[in-house]
Order: sequence, then C-alpha cells, then structure tokens
Amino acid sequence: MIIVPEKEIAGLISAEDSFDAVESVFAAMARGDAYNFPVIREAIGHADALYGFKSGFDRAGLVLGLKSGGYWPGNADKGLTNHQSTVVLFDADTGQAHALVGGNLLTALRTAAASAVSIKHLARKDAKVLGMVGAGHQSAFQMRAAVKQRDFEKVVGWNYHPEMLPRLAETAEELGLPFEAVSLEELGAQADVIVTITSSFEAQVMDAHIKPGTHLACMGTDTKGKQEVDPAILARARVFTDEVAQSVSIGEAQHAVAAGLVAEGDIGQIGAVIEGTVPGRQSAEEITLFDGTGVGLQDLAVAAKAVELAREKGVAVEVDF
Ligand code: NAD
Repeated sequence: MIIVPEKEIAGLISAEDSFDAVESVFAAMARGDAYNFPVIREAIGHADALYGFKSGFDRAGLVLGLKSGGYWPGNADKGLTNHQSTVVLFDADTGQAHALVGGNLLTALRTAAASAVSIKHLARKDAKVLGMVGAGHQSAFQMRAAVKQRDFEKVVGWNYHPEMLPRLAETAEELGLPFEAVSLEELGAQADVIVTITSSFEAQVMDAHIKPGTHLACMGTDTKGKQEVDPAILARARVFTDEVAQSVSIGEAQHAVAAGLVAEGDIGQIGAVIEGTVPGRQSAEEITLFDGTGVGLQDLAVAAKAVELAREKGVAVEVDF
C-alpha cells in the first residue's frame, strides 16, 4: 500500500493536473462511466465535529475509493486546520486498499478546478473582469484557477467580513492583476465571471446585481440550508452542476427548486457540456450558472493523480498492509 502524506501534496500536483483530472471525471460521470455513492454526513456528538464520507467509482479510470473527513471547529486552537480530509483508494479488481492520501490541499485544488472547468466551458470568451464573493481559505485557490481560463484584466471582490479582503488583494497581486474592493452592486456591474465561495446561509448576490452575459460559479453551498445567491438568478440563467441529485438537495439550486422557480430537469450536467452532448453558452447575453456542490469522484480523481505523480517522483511511502 502507498501512503502520500499531506506534506508532499503541494510539491506533487499542480492546479493544471487537478483541472485535467476533474474535467475528465466530470465527462466520465456524464457518460455514465463514473458515479458517486450516497454521501454520509453526521454530527458525531463529540468535539462539535461533522464527520462524513464521499465515495464513488470511476469505471473508465478504475478509480475506486472514498474521502473521509469533516469539520472540527476546535482544531484552530490546536494549530490544525478545521477541515480534515483523507482519501483511501482501493484496487477495483480485488478491493484491497492500495493508497492513503492526505486530502486537505487536494480538496481546495479539486474545488477550484471545478469552477475553472465551468469557466472554460460556460463563460464568455471575451470575459475581462473576475468578481470574487468570499475571502476565506478556498478563495485564493479559486482565484488562481479561474484566471487561467480567460484573459482577465482585473479582479473585483466583496466579502461579508471586510477585514478578510486583504487575502483577495494579495492573491490578485501574486497573479499580477489589479484588485478593487467593491460593493455587490458594483461587483455585478463590472464582473463578467463571478465566483462565490462563502459559508453563507442567505443570498448575498441578488438578481438585480447581475448583468446579461455573466457566468456565475457558485461554489460555497454544499449543505442543506446554505445559500449564496438569489434564486431568481437561477430562474433566468441556464444552470449546470457537477451532479444534479446534489444540486437540488444540498447545492445552490435547492432554494430555486423549493420555490418552484427551477425544475430538476432544467439543470444540466457540466460533464455533458464537456462531452459535447449538451451545448454550453449559446449567446453573449445569456446568464450561465454552475452549481458546484463537490462530489467524491473529484477527490478520487485528484488523489489518483497524486499517487501516480508520487510514484514517478519517488516520494510515495510503501508499506506492507
Ligand atoms: P472559510 O471559513 O475560510 O471562509 C468562509 C467565507 O464565508 C469567508 O469569506 C467569510 O467571510 C464568509 N462568511 C462567513 N459567514 C458568512 C455569512 N454569514 N454570510 C456571508 N458570508 C459569510 O471557508 P472556506 O474554506 O473558504 O470555504 C468556503 C465555503 O466553501 C464553505 O461553505 C465550504 O463548506 C465550501 N466548500 C465547498 C466545496 C465544494 O466542493 N463545493 C469544497 C470546499 C469548501
């Protein structure tokens, strides 16, 4: 069995590798070659922790496994990350465990890759301004991945906690792009692509903020009750997602579906756009929205790539198991 420790991940897998792995597994999901198993998520009644599993099988790539982990709010006091993830991969022919992979950085990379895939396939080709809503841990990864997809000239940002905005300014500077902190009205007026990545439980971005032609990648809502945008935006947008079942239950679309503004059948799989079986953006004026809920197959895809690279670079720890 191979162990790829968390500390090795940064030196192994790039944002580009993660993009390719996630784009490819989204396409496999749309072809029916890969599927996710039901998600388990439990409040365990200890340490205020939320613990769970995301798992699946990619028959095309023969990647079988699970990501286990969750949220431990007290970890910051212990000098640890609140979110903890570990991926276990199994041999699809024998069921033997064959790899244990640190999943914390991989989670950020695969989440950023998902919104970047949506920008590649759905945003206007001439998009110039990137709007960021959210300035937490994930936001820097999101911005770095998004700017690779279009010739962005500027980043505008808003955050519920303005004291966190320096993270966006610093990331934009690292990427050589000017940054402006703006109101939500101004963000919607300027941005051609908007990434939302917050833990909000009520709509921040309203329908009136959004101009024609905008692409939104809504990445923060991954639990029942969370919400980042006005359901009216989904009603006038073409909506795509990683997995429809998650989009309508735990994703951003849960609210628009509950309000009767959007039907499950109106939501397309991003993988079908990648495969070319469903058209992506059809006009410069249409609004597109990607509801990125986060699926286990994304985790397995980047973990499998990390294992491959660890083997190539000789940093995989091999143990008898
Ligand atoms: P973080 O704790 O580092 O940052 C939280 C962000 O949400 C900050 O921008 C904060 O200002 C904002 N926020 C907090 N409370 C808010 C409120 N009441 N109203 C509006 N904004 C509020 O978190 P993070 O690691 O950056 O993750 C952000 C979100 O992304 C979380 O909801 C997390 O669960 C989600 N996430 C989704 C995926 C996926 O695959 N879709 C993957 C990882 C994380």
